[in-house]
Amino acid sequence: MNKQIITELSHEELISALKEMKQPAFRANQIHDWIYKKNAASWDDMTNLSKELRQQCSEKWLFNSIQMAKSVKSDDGTEKLLLKLHDGEFIEMVIIPADTRITFCLSTQVGCPVGCLFCASGRNGLVRNLAMHEIIGEFQAGCAVIGRIPDNIVFMGIGEGLLNYENLMKAVERLTEEKYFAMGVRRITISTSGFVPGMLKLADYGKELNLAISLHAPNDEIRQKIIPGKIRYPISEIMEAADIYREKCNRMVTLEYTLLKDINDSAACAKALSRIAREHHTKINLIPYNDTGSEFKRPSTKTINTFEQILRNADVAVSVRRERGSDQAGACGQLRAEHMN
Ligand code: SAH
Ligand code: SF4
Repeated sequence: MNKQIITELSHEELISALKEMKQPAFRANQIHDWIYKKNAASWDDMTNLSKELRQQCSEKWLFNSIQMAKSVKSDDGTEKLLLKLHDGEFIEMVIIPADTRITFCLSTQVGCPVGCLFCASGRNGLVRNLAMHEIIGEFQAGCAVIGRIPDNIVFMGIGEGLLNYENLMKAVERLTEEKYFAMGVRRITISTSGFVPGMLKLADYGKELNLAISLHAPNDEIRQKIIPGKIRYPISEIMEAADIYREKCNRMVTLEYTLLKDINDSAACAKALSRIAREHHTKINLIPYNDTGSEFKRPSTKTINTFEQILRNADVAVSVRRERGSDQAGACGQLRAEHMN
């Protein structure tokens, strides 16, 4: 890529770049507003700039390096975008409507180095990190589809975001700072497979971002059947980091739990999980396994309901992820995986 992407520039850098082009500061502010306040999807959208200036800008900067390759809509309204990056790699983002609110599920890496055995995203390892402007670029691709910014963002797409900490946090700052997209920090959730050093860094950052931890098992013995050893931390260390996070950031943490038949779906697992949730004041999000062609199976509806009920009986706040987008290669990383085949 020989051109800079316009979102790589800060507001101040944009002003000085326009100054060099002999343009007044208010022009830079107009461009800034088109990008961050008026949801432009291209230079051509900036109708109060002269054609000549738009031309000059587009020669100097790319508006977005990401192109939509495919869009797949599910019966429930979920829309998944397959996005092509400048180097020919692919990622996905998902638009999830619920009532009047819309959530974006965003990717943080191309592939994933963690390689959880049920997940399509990590099957071929990590290709590379996403740059800040690419994370913003997928956000903008989603905004172009819905015509506004979303109400919530979850970083639950492809990749382990805390292993791309710097770029992810730069993107979070762009998304939340008043001057840029100005989304509330409490509307953003970062999901991690339990990368403890990253969780501690995020705790030190000290903002009220939501943290979701993919625990998937109540003990390390079961967990090691699901997550390979390379980047897997002991549950005791993960929960200690979760406590620190809750205290420093003043947010209740969520534990995600992908339910896998005969692996982690027993009543004993539910009871052990409820003890962890109560001890560490966490919520639980149950995610029945979405088939990705792995060795695992989804538990029966009855088993899922029983598991949920045991948690409820123990006074744990629990939600079950509704089957969203599962009719259209809904599981995380699946559209990309299919495309690669
Ligand atoms: N890497 C981060 C965020 C991306 S995955 C993490 O692991 O937390 C987001 C969530 O989707 C995780 O809880 C993950 O376990 C879950 N997930 C991924 N593939 C799935 C599948 N096929 N079925 C059910 N849950 C899945
Ligand atoms: Fe990576 Fe998360 Fe998939 Fe595990 S579940 S392979 S950490 S994206």
